[in-house]
Amino acid sequence: MKNTLIILMMGISLMAFAKTDNPFFETYKNKYGAPPFDKIKIEHYMPAFKQGIKEHSEEINAIANSQAAPTFDNTIAALDFSGDLLRKVSSVFFNLHSADTNEAMDNIAKDITPVLTEHNDNMYLNGKLFVRIKTLYDKRTKLGLTGEQMRLLEKYHRNFIRSGAALNSAQKAKLREINKELGLAELQFGQNVLDETNSYQKVIENKAELAGLPENVIQTAAEDAKTAGKEGKWLFSTHKASFIPVLQYSENRKLRKDLLLAYSTRANHDNDKDNKAVINKIMKLRTQKAQLLGFATSADFILDDTMAKTPKAVYDLLKTVWTPALAKAKEEATELQKLMDAEGNGEKLEAWDWWYYSEKLRKAKYDLDEEMLKPYFKLENVRQGVFDLASKLYGLKFKKISDMPVYNPDVEVFEVSDADNSLIGILYTDYFPRAGKSAGAWMNNITDQYTKNGVNHRPIICNIGNLTKPTADTPSLLSMDDVETLFHEFGHALHGLLTQCTYPSMSGTNVSRDFVELPSQVMENWCWEPQVMQTYAKHYKTGEVMPKELMDKIQLAGTFNQGFINTELLAASMLDMDYHMRKDTTNFDVTAFENASLAGIGMIPEIIVRYRSTYFNHIFSGDYYAGYYSYTWAAVLDADAFSAFKETGNVYDPKTAAAFRKKLLEKGDSEDPMKLYHDFRGKAPNPDALLTKRGLK
Ligand SMILES: [Zn+2]
Repeated sequence: MKNTLIILMMGISLMAFAKTDNPFFETYKNKYGAPPFDKIKIEHYMPAFKQGIKEHSEEINAIANSQAAPTFDNTIAALDFSGDLLRKVSSVFFNLHSADTNEAMDNIAKDITPVLTEHNDNMYLNGKLFVRIKTLYDKRTKLGLTGEQMRLLEKYHRNFIRSGAALNSAQKAKLREINKELGLAELQFGQNVLDETNSYQKVIENKAELAGLPENVIQTAAEDAKTAGKEGKWLFSTHKASFIPVLQYSENRKLRKDLLLAYSTRANHDNDKDNKAVINKIMKLRTQKAQLLGFATSADFILDDTMAKTPKAVYDLLKTVWTPALAKAKEEATELQKLMDAEGNGEKLEAWDWWYYSEKLRKAKYDLDEEMLKPYFKLENVRQGVFDLASKLYGLKFKKISDMPVYNPDVEVFEVSDADNSLIGILYTDYFPRAGKSAGAWMNNITDQYTKNGVNHRPIICNIGNLTKPTADTPSLLSMDDVETLFHEFGHALHGLLTQCTYPSMSGTNVSRDFVELPSQVMENWCWEPQVMQTYAKHYKTGEVMPKELMDKIQLAGTFNQGFINTELLAASMLDMDYHMRKDTTNFDVTAFENASLAGIGMIPEIIVRYRSTYFNHIFSGDYYAGYYSYTWAAVLDADAFSAFKETGNVYDPKTAAAFRKKLLEKGDSEDPMKLYHDFRGKAPNPDALLTKRGLK
């Protein structure tokens, strides 16, 4: 009822506003082409979405029904530049829906999402449009296209095929049915995990059982108990924030064991929340879908559209890291067992002991305490640090502009210009948490870069985060994790800012998902380099640079526990791949399948795979399947790319930086990503740098 009311109200406001009163219907007047956030009101979105979809549909139909023979310009370029109004309103709306939402925005999102999905399907299943694209694709080598145009044509053709455009009508109906059922099954999977996570409670009645836990953890457990109506007791759950500190610090071995087992058996209890049958259903539907679209397995289907391209390439990479990671994990297990032996209880290391004894070992080895570091990581200093780094590497200049309209007072705006003072783009930073902002950190485009009629339209990019907030008497002091996050997201921003393409779908971060994390992850390599830290890690009170002993500790602790971390991560990546290599669509035993996958790689019982099947949300509740490897893939690329700088003996080496910018960051998706990497590095990426960085070599 509520939604109907809002749509009705939107209808009224559409009538009440003359078209020109809605900022989306006007050309943005700002000199950078930035949206007038101060003038955009909630009632402007729905009329702009409706008008935007109408105009875009008319443009698509005009292209599809054109009597003129298809050409690259009248079909592919025309499609890529179509939908101007829809793009304008979508980018503002969805940016704000993540960064600064409210109930009215949430309601619009609920109403507009299915309409946009349908609009999308209407384009991909438009038979006449596909005939034009296919005609061009079939004679693509004879069209005299530039490299970027060829990539764009191939991208459109591939996206249409992958959406079922080449199927006959019976097959299209079948695909629609599979997609619908798959969507529901994936939703069910995620819901079961959520329900099982929320339903488990571990209540402790005797404070003595909490020995070893930090006071703030005990306090949170007491507050959680009170909220649950169990005042005077302590409550723990299978939410990570609740049970990980127990695994790390609790002297109570039984408590550690109970919580880890509760966590690792979620949605695996043969009840109505069990996900084993759901996994069977999902796997059957995905395999059917891949086979309907002409692929042997769902891994083949997914990887066809990535940098890795084939399951073999993924397995080869994972095994290269797996072998040394497992060896390292075994060494770590021996070291932890020694600590246990020294306690003289005759206990054997189990999965629920690993965190606890590795924390002890970390303290003994490095004496590194995060609280000692934070005063050196004042937000403004760290941000200036990444700006200075971009200046040293790429000659960029950052100027704060105060007269730009923003959607929230936390937002700051910077003009980014090149060494020759030409405009590179605009960067918005929005770093602090607030109600209405999603968790995590991300980069997004507010406008895309493209070139039209000889004009190079520079992009507007934002970096959003949930970093530590300032308090009344201290500025925002970042954790190490926050510092890495800021560098990481700024790397995505540079990829978005520096791009030099013609077509919007080609520019910036519109690249495959196992490539998109290279420009971001590579930035993390600079953040702990002593030479770089000297520029930004300054005490917020005294301005004194971080002492060398502290910098050294950060370096040394970098490879701690990497056997464990890599083993649990890679085992999950292999499990994901093993599932999606299935060709068979009959029912199978999920537990036996998981056990066989782990046994096949020699997993040790002291480590549990990062996600067991029944709660592996990345691969079963969304479309990140056959994709969990991407983190490792991009890590190989970023470590290898950074060693190109290290090999010169200068982490700011101008020649290497210029090559990284020109041959990779500026290129967007205008070339095959492996070719881009080759062009920059002069050879294929080598996993050695990653192995060294993680202490696995
Ligand atoms: Zn990222």
